[in-house]
Amino acid sequence: MQIAIDGPAGAGKSTIAKKIARELDFFYIDTGAMYRALTWMVIQTNTDYKDEKAVYSLAQKTNIHFSNRPGEQRIICNGKDVSDVIRSPEVNNLVSQISALPLVRTIMVLKQQTMAENMNVVMEGRDIGECVLPQADYKFFITAGLEERCQRRARELKERGYDQDYTAIKEEMISRDKMDSARDIGALKILKDSIVINSSNLSIEELFSCVIAIIRGEKNVV
Ligand code: C5P
Repeated sequence: MQIAIDGPAGAGKSTIAKKIARELDFFYIDTGAMYRALTWMVIQTNTDYKDEKAVYSLAQKTNIHFSNRPGEQRIICNGKDVSDVIRSPEVNNLVSQISALPLVRTIMVLKQQTMAENMNVVMEGRDIGECVLPQADYKFFITAGLEERCQRRARELKERGYDQDYTAIKEEMISRDKMDSARDIGALKILKDSIVINSSNLSIEELFSCVIAIIRGEKNVV
């Protein structure tokens, strides 16, 4: 079975996707972490992020995979655990530019499809329902209001030890939303067969119950 979860940053996708995967004993794939890992590599290697061929060549040389430690998933990039560093403000600010490069998307989508082969997966991102797993059994689109998403992101950054002011977080969120929705390939959008859930007024538990009930056929699509 394939479950696709798309939506903008800060909507609660990751938390829900992880919980659903744990509940159903499915493999969890965070595709945003893969674009973030490549962005981190671009920064580390001083690659010109506007030079698509150079970034593509870096993507080809970069080995990105997930390792499941008990209770959590880590992302490994060329042998190094980058799970924490890819959440930095520097990566946040650049990732949408990197992920808008068509050649980068080609390579990432292929990697993601290969990972999902012959496995039950919960995969989260922006273009999962449309490009990566168009045949997914369920396509959720999880969203929330801008303020709510910014507050969640601010809390997350603070927990990770990054001191970023709220205005900067909001600006970054608006600009990332815009870039992720406007690009030609793999844009963030609601599909005809998306199950749209607005999580603004839902607790994680309520959101989880809603999603799992739909998957189990106990609840009609909202
Ligand atoms: O989900 P997360 O916020 O970690 O994703 C980081 C960025 O990676 C997104 O803002 C988007 O630019 C990119 N991304 C993407 N396609 C996906 C997943 C993430 O372009 N499937």
